[in-house]
Amino acid sequence: MSGFRLTWVSTVFLLRLFVVLMDDSFRDEGECQKRQIPVSVFVHDPEHPAHEDLVWLAKETCRECPVQAECFLFGMKNGEVGVWGGAWLELPPETSTDKP
Ligand code: SF4
Repeated sequence: MSGFRLTWVSTVFLLRLFVVLMDDSFRDEGECQKRQIPVSVFVHDPEHPAHEDLVWLAKETCRECPVQAECFLFGMKNGEVGVWGGAWLELPPETSTDKP
């Protein structure tokens, strides 16, 4: 019986965790929305010629943002790339499964 309760509680916990991780409603309160800064400032190819300037502008915007923590956590948990919550996030380098 307790095994059933544990499974049920675990399922509810996982569903709530999934909803929290996928909830991006914080963006509506973001400084980037308020200033209407294009997404391309926050998410772009690191090889872009203006990469350093774009990241600087993005981070300056995030510094004033009331939902910086939520944004950073969302970016980290969902494997996003670009500036999220004031930090440049990128995918980890692929680990090769090829053996030499
Ligand atoms: S932390 Fe930065 S990217 Fe995230 S919502 Fe705020 S201004 Fe936008």
